[in-house]
Amino acid sequence: MPPTILESTMWCPICRHHDVLQMPTDACVFFHPCAGCQTLLRPKAGDCCVFCSYGSVRCPPVQQGAGCCVPAGTDGRPPAVAPSRN
Ligand SMILES: [Zn+2]
Repeated sequence: MPPTILESTMWCPICRHHDVLQMPTDACVFFHPCAGCQTLLRPKAGDCCVFCSYGSVRCPPVQQGAGCCVPAGTDGRPPAVAPSRN
């Protein structure tokens, strides 16, 4: 199995700003505020996280063939909101 890539370059679809981000292996990132235009990026339909939609590589669980955190047999949409503790 190839090594899992944990660093992703995320391109903002609005302003083309890009950020190099470390991807967590144990969670999905549903929302990412663009540092360029402050747009809150969210996954496209059918994608589990913003890395799969806008990143240069897909998220670690998908790379490992685990299908990210979306449980099999659902409609494929991610859970509504990831709890965030700031
Ligand atoms: Zn942007």
